[in-house]
Amino acid sequence: MFDAFDAPGQWLRGNLHLHTTVSDGELTPQEAVDGYSAQGYDFLAITDHDRVVDMDELNNQGMTLLHGVEIAPPGAELGQTVHCVGIGASEVPEKREDDTPQAAIGRLSEICEACFVAHPSWSSVTFADILPIEGIIGVEVYNHTCHTGIGRGLSEVQWDDLLARGKRFFGLGVDDAHCHYNDLYGGWIMLKAQEPTREAIFAALRAGHFYASQGPTIESVQFGEETVLVECSPAVECFAVCPMPGSGSTNWRTSDVREARTSYELPLRAGTDPVRVCIVDEAGRRAWSNPCWRS
Ligand SMILES: [Zn+2]
Ligand SMILES: [Zn+2]
Repeated sequence: MFDAFDAPGQWLRGNLHLHTTVSDGELTPQEAVDGYSAQGYDFLAITDHDRVVDMDELNNQGMTLLHGVEIAPPGAELGQTVHCVGIGASEVPEKREDDTPQAAIGRLSEICEACFVAHPSWSSVTFADILPIEGIIGVEVYNHTCHTGIGRGLSEVQWDDLLARGKRFFGLGVDDAHCHYNDLYGGWIMLKAQEPTREAIFAALRAGHFYASQGPTIESVQFGEETVLVECSPAVECFAVCPMPGSGSTNWRTSDVREARTSYELPLRAGTDPVRVCIVDEAGRRAWSNPCWRS
């Protein structure tokens, strides 16, 4: 059973990382809400740097609005800061002189509903930085502004490295839009929730009932004894990625696909765990399921 796809509920499209004029973005909070609503999004978090926007003061335009914040404690292995997004935070955690990323993010996790590490690739944040952090649900596998800005939006390698070290981390797709250039509506999650309320969205986030996308849709992922069956919007490639502790190369991909298909069946070796699925459409855009831990 793969809860994200098998659980009852409705699919909701949302962006959980976004900046406004309250920190270093170009859109006002209301302009941002208006824009995402016009694009058909169901939920949105504004996550300004070290500031929480009061989402209850905005016209929600039919969306579920979530409070959020991004913090960036220093001390990463390669000299950068470790950016972390806290969803459902109603305040900003205090900064302390001798903070470590682990301590600062730990305090954030205590005052929010779901925390994740932002853009590992852009920050050159390594698995060694992320491994000791407690209280996070995962990492951004795709950050649209980091891709659009400098070509470092993908963090699949860091995610798989952490999975192979035994971390049960989910992968999120986000815009992180600042609107200094074209960085809106390019990365999101599709989340399966019982209802479009804050509480149901928080619960689905913590349970990993979502997948990340740049465009394609994953309709279902079903595991058999030695196969995984994927149904999706038209895709030219499909991978079953198995970052399994103790195993080296454990990936499967489709071979020699001539035209886009909407269903793929991939072989799996018995005992492979965890497994995540990635599809690629004709434009090269990806969607990533969360890992399924089969044991
Ligand atoms: Zn950031
Ligand atoms: Zn950001």
